[in-house]
Amino acid sequence: MGPILQTGLPLVGAPLSCGEDLERFAAMLLEKNQVMNLTAITEPDQVATLHLLDSLAVWQGADLSGKSVIDVGTGAGFPGVPLKIAHPDLRLTLLDSLNKRVDFLREVCEALSLTHVDCVHGRAEEFAADHREQYDAAVSRAVANLRTLSELCLPLVKVGGVFLAMKSTDCEEELEAAKPAIKLLGGKTERVVDYTIPTTEVVHRLVVIRKLSPTPAKYPRRFAQMKKQPL
Ligand code: SAM
Repeated sequence: MGPILQTGLPLVGAPLSCGEDLERFAAMLLEKNQVMNLTAITEPDQVATLHLLDSLAVWQGADLSGKSVIDVGTGAGFPGVPLKIAHPDLRLTLLDSLNKRVDFLREVCEALSLTHVDCVHGRAEEFAADHREQYDAAVSRAVANLRTLSELCLPLVKVGGVFLAMKSTDCEEELEAAKPAIKLLGGKTERVVDYTIPTTEVVHRLVVIRKLSPTPAKYPRRFAQMKKQPL
């Protein structure tokens, strides 16, 4: 890793002491990426900004201290793993439908002695059958458009909890199109937060969706159905 995390760069509400573990995670990611497709971003400084610091920005959408959080479609661990490293009191579930990625996440958790992390191989729409409305928060980045993503994530969130969708700033239309789905699933968009990733000019957006009422039992549907007839 370059010196970027070690030079006092703002870690957005996270203790500077977590920089070392973030760097170890980044090093594991880049090493494993040589034998497995985990990320298209391979420049260490870009891993630091576009993966690590971008993930940490989730805190600007909600303070998740001590909360149970599920990262839906976490891939190589974004945003969940950096959040857990920076905020060890999170109770985290990392969910992904690709087993090899989940195996990598298990290695990361062991190497970094991360506790209270469940690494789960599964599909969100199936996982919801046994884990309905069990999480204080769901987070997700780069998994699906907001209509579909809401159907994957909102059923997992407790009433009163929050779903944080990480999006780009050009998501106005996507947000508008997802409004009926979000409402139907028991949610309401509370606010959007645009943030600049520290040390870059890259601006991303957090869509903060509050769960106001239970999700009707028929959701989530099977994935094929979601694709065919998005809410
Ligand atoms: N969130 C990570 C990130 O931002 O780097 C990974 C994004 S990657 C483009 C999308 C990930 O979502 C893949 O690892 C894929 O296996 C997973 N995925 C897609 N649909 C899913 C579903 N229905 N349930 C669980 N995981 C899913």
